[in-house]
Amino acid sequence: MATDFIARLLEALRSVAGPGPVALHAPEFAGNERRYLIECVDSTFVSSVGPFVDDFERKLAQFTGAKHAIAVVNGTAALHVALRLSGVQPDDEVLVPALTFVATANAIIYCGAHPHFIDSEPVTLGIDVVALRAYLEKNVVVEGGRCFNRHTRRVIRALVPMHTFGHPVDMAGLLALADEFQLQVVEDAAESLGSYYRGVHTGTLARLGILSFNGNKVITTGGGGAILTNDSELARRAKHLTTTAKVPHRWEYVHDESGYNYRMPNINAALGCAQLERLPVILAAKRRLFSAYDTAFGPVSEVELVREPDGCRSNYWLNAILLRAGLEDQRDSVLTATNDAGFMTRPAWRLLHRLAPFAACPRMKLLGAERIESRLINIPSGPALLGGREP
Ligand SMILES: *Cc1c(COP(=O)(O)O)cnc(C)c1O
Repeated sequence: MATDFIARLLEALRSVAGPGPVALHAPEFAGNERRYLIECVDSTFVSSVGPFVDDFERKLAQFTGAKHAIAVVNGTAALHVALRLSGVQPDDEVLVPALTFVATANAIIYCGAHPHFIDSEPVTLGIDVVALRAYLEKNVVVEGGRCFNRHTRRVIRALVPMHTFGHPVDMAGLLALADEFQLQVVEDAAESLGSYYRGVHTGTLARLGILSFNGNKVITTGGGGAILTNDSELARRAKHLTTTAKVPHRWEYVHDESGYNYRMPNINAALGCAQLERLPVILAAKRRLFSAYDTAFGPVSEVELVREPDGCRSNYWLNAILLRAGLEDQRDSVLTATNDAGFMTRPAWRLLHRLAPFAACPRMKLLGAERIESRLINIPSGPALLGGREP
């Protein structure tokens, strides 16, 4: 029986993705990438200043609706600085899903703070707001405008929601919780460029949000990231901190604090400008791919394709299937069979509390995240997968 279902699953994959080999998410350079890169090299402005950086920031702000976008070297650096700007200090705790990419928790460690892992639910694959509320009611106390962990006595300063694989999490619920429990919110929208929560672009719902343009994301700058905010003072601080905190002067090197060299080089922004021009086309291609998978997996009753939550629009960065309850023990067989057949499929991230550097971090019960991890498989989702084919 089990092998029969894996054969049908493989056939469904093949009917959409072609014969293979197929990458999980290959970037597509079908626009002005080459032209802008050559322009950049010819100008000699390949490094830390140049017109493409300003242009990329302006276009990002325009696309997302954020008042300000600050381009940086990668999404992890963006998170690090956003957390610092949220007031995260050494020995604070920061609430973060256990089901996320390791970068989210690393950025907390860079601040000298402690990740505090929270649970996820299967509809959005994001933070379980109901479970989190119950947990906070029991385990924290709010005093003098600050939230304290009753057990460790440390300040819980912030909450980092993440929009898993591009599916928006319940931001209304989380922002209400954050307000009630005096938590700063930094939205990790690394995976969700082009995703909207109730019509608002992800990464712009809280005071600070971040994007990533790593090679496997919806669009890429090679490596890159951005900080999003509607607050002009925070934007000014973000730019200052990520550019070595240099005080503008025609020739003097004066730095008024210890900043970071986190700015995005012009050559990366050149790639980004070309990629952004094609973002609407890429997003449309990814929706078509989701539809094609939806049709193909329809008859495979052993799996369920993850779809955009109600009231949201997902960018469908990475499609995922969830094995039906009871089939958890088939996960690794599915991974083996699909990878053997040339389809790059991957499990969810190893839950962070089970990684050595985070083993001692505080956490709530993570039953939802564990259930997702045991059943989830990401399937090939690159924008070029259907080629020019219409659905
Ligand atoms: C990709 C990613 C990041 C980090 O981005 P980099 O640009 O690779 O540093 C952070 N959080 C999540 C959830 C990601 O998927």
